[in-house]
Amino acid sequence: MKKKVVMFSKIFPEFEEKLRAEFEVVGIDPKQGSRTQQLQEAVVDAHGLIGAGVYLGEKQLATGKHLEIISSVSVGYDNYDLAYLAQQGIKLAHTPHVLTETTADMAFSLLMAAARRVTELDAWIRAGQWQRSIKPSQFGQDVYGKTLGIVGLGHIGAAIARRGYHGFNMSIKYHSRQPKPEIANALVAEYMSLPTLLQTCDYVVLSVALSDATTGMIGEEELAMLQPHAILVNIARGAVIDETALYDALKNQQFAGAGLDVFVKEPLATSPLFTLDNVVLAPHIGSATLDTRYAMHALAYQNLVNQLNGQTARYLVDLAS
Ligand code: NAP
Repeated sequence: MKKKVVMFSKIFPEFEEKLRAEFEVVGIDPKQGSRTQQLQEAVVDAHGLIGAGVYLGEKQLATGKHLEIISSVSVGYDNYDLAYLAQQGIKLAHTPHVLTETTADMAFSLLMAAARRVTELDAWIRAGQWQRSIKPSQFGQDVYGKTLGIVGLGHIGAAIARRGYHGFNMSIKYHSRQPKPEIANALVAEYMSLPTLLQTCDYVVLSVALSDATTGMIGEEELAMLQPHAILVNIARGAVIDETALYDALKNQQFAGAGLDVFVKEPLATSPLFTLDNVVLAPHIGSATLDTRYAMHALAYQNLVNQLNGQTARYLVDLAS
């Protein structure tokens, strides 16, 4: 008898077809009613799940008594109840590396757009206001040669740091749980505490994984440490920043601006941030290029198939992390 796979979000048709050739496959469709209820019914006799962007914990999975693996089409895994998966012996696979460079590109896009006020001035032109040259109060600020602080020098953080060091002659500072001498030596990067990094860097990019320890890591107190000309970029997860405190700080022009790809609640249908000129907003598109998404789906497909066929998925999450 074929094993059963539940697609809890859409995957590329090519990989869905391949799955259907080998397994019994059912899809969850939010248009057909409660996603949780559909999941509870679908997992009863399922062995694997594949998808992204859905919270999965006991409520969604408890009816599944044969679950072997969840294959996430993402590198981040903060939307899974790791303790529950560990307790149930359900493996979790993810897709690191293949999205690192593209997500780093996006971080730099936000940094540059905020520094040079690209979206603000785009809106200004479209409003028909370009009747004479811009005023000095509309000038942006230099990126080349400035100081770049990376909070979370993991795969993506290191790729952002490489862009800053090699492409923009920036001096690199970083904060992680532990110093990373191998990466840091190549980039002449200096390890520092979070407060020192916030107080001294011109640009601060958040690329930490979301966990209990990093939720609200950047709150009112930390935002107050940023220099008046500083720019803050978040490509990690929205909840790393206290969004209300961020709105207040940006509204009061406590620091120069922000570039945000991620938000506490997504999709972001409405937000007070929409009223501010000094923030560049993106709809969680760090990895959203065709090539990269294809590579992520291919890897998630392979992780799932390997595990269900008795081998080990290439990238399993350490559920004790
Ligand atoms: P990674 O290699 O695991 O890097 C995560 C980094 O976070 C590590 O450097 C880690 O430091 C640091 N970190 C974790 N907890 C910390 C803490 N309490 N204090 C300070 N640093 C801490 O992961 P990655 O591939 O670079 O991805 C990073 C995150 O980016 C993902 O978890 C995901 O949430 C996000 N992401 C977003 C997008 C997007 O579309 N915007 C796309 C991909 C990923 P240590 O090594 O010292 O533990």
